[in-house]
Amino acid sequence: MRIVLFGAPGSGKGTQGELMAKRTGFPRISTGDLLRTAAQKRTPLGLKAEVVMKEGRLVSDEIVIGLVRERLADPDCRGGYILDGFPRTIVQAEALATLDGERPEVVMGIEVPTEVLIDRLSGRRICSSCQAVYNLAVQPPRLEGVCDLCRGPLVQRPDDTPEVIRERIRVYHEQTESLKDHYLRLGSYRAVDGRGTIEEIFQRIVHVLDGEIGMPGRETVTA
Ligand code: AMP
Repeated sequence: MRIVLFGAPGSGKGTQGELMAKRTGFPRISTGDLLRTAAQKRTPLGLKAEVVMKEGRLVSDEIVIGLVRERLADPDCRGGYILDGFPRTIVQAEALATLDGERPEVVMGIEVPTEVLIDRLSGRRICSSCQAVYNLAVQPPRLEGVCDLCRGPLVQRPDDTPEVIRERIRVYHEQTESLKDHYLRLGSYRAVDGRGTIEEIFQRIVHVLDGEIGMPGRETVTA
């Protein structure tokens, strides 16, 4: 099962990808997470990427494709994977097609109006210790500023400030949105309404995947 989660920043790819990973047992591969980890480790690649990410621009295709190539070679990806935030350009989509001889079966497009994206990204908080994601409006932590899971301090991502949010959404329209047409032409794009609660959106995704390829793990975990 090869799934691409596609959508603008704030559309819920990370949250839904985690739920899908729990449900299916397939790893969620987020290029944003891979880049943030490289930045935290202060690797040369990470330091280079960090500057670009802070400005809300896209990291070079070369760097991102290299990271994905390495990650897809890991044994846990053999049976399938859930890509979150990749591909974001046509060059990346073409690279994916050659990296893995098999095409993604489904490109799940989570569609959300821009004003909702801005609200979600502005309210997002991340645990600086375990990376769990919260939203002050719809999924607040039990104790203000503290992670429910590990008690770590919650912080705002440096690219979730109003100015950088605007830039990320602009970059999405300019460089990524046209991939929808690319995958529509290939017949693999499926649109999902990304408004509503986390559970409602997840049920829509499950419904689409069940119809397409039979989503595994149905009995085991619910959102
Ligand atoms: P995300 O966590 O998916 O919102 O990504 C955070 C940032 O990482 C983006 O704003 C980009 O700067 C960078 N990034 C993540 N994925 C990619 C990608 N596929 N291509 C280029 N840059 C990316």
